Amino acid sequence: MPARKYRATWDDIGALDCDFIAGWGVLSGYRGQIDTEAEQGPASIFCEHDTERDMLAAFYVWPEPRLKATIGTGEHGPIRSTVRIERTPCRYGGTRPIFVCPGCARRTRRLAVRPSGLLCGKCAGVTYGSQRETKTRRLVRRANVLAARLGMEHFTDTPKRPPYMREATYQKTLAELRAVVDQINIKAARAMSRGIAGLGALARWGV
Ligand SMILES: [Zn+2]
Repeated sequence: MPARKYRATWDDIGALDCDFIAGWGVLSGYRGQIDTEAEQGPASIFCEHDTERDMLAAFYVWPEPRLKATIGTGEHGPIRSTVRIERTPCRYGGTRPIFVCPGCARRTRRLAVRPSGLLCGKCAGVTYGSQRETKTRRLVRRANVLAARLGMEHFTDTPKRPPYMREATYQKTLAELRAVVDQINIKAARAMSRGIAGLGALARWGV
């Protein structure tokens, strides 16, 4: 029986999402750790953004057993990857950053954290799994669904019972929303303890 070819999915590897980290201020001169929430590879990577050259440098060490399992070699060491950032103008002013893949020089919104460095999905051979969102994103999406039920535009708005809603329903939905927001806050607090911007910034890229 032929061995099944190993293919990583976005679900089980660490990745950097351009809009996500830009919302945290990572692409505005940030220097510090970023959690990957990954099942595979390093749990966190160290990033440094050079505002003058608009380059993001990432440093991490690939856990050895995983490296052997995935690429069949014991060789490893500190991995350093440098990514150029391009800024595309937005229709209503300002710019939106986008990564330039260090492997193929194509623009990409997402880079995979791999033993060979940061690479776009094509270069890294990453496929989509069943879940396409990170845990935090799922939580933010869930919070906004509940917030919308309560007539709020965003989960960070102040809740107020909509006139058409029964008090019991309101309390139940509010309790569920608070539980989800608590989980988001725990993740945000972990990010903030490493010097990343706060929940406000987290909320801006949210939805
Ligand atoms: Zn590439």
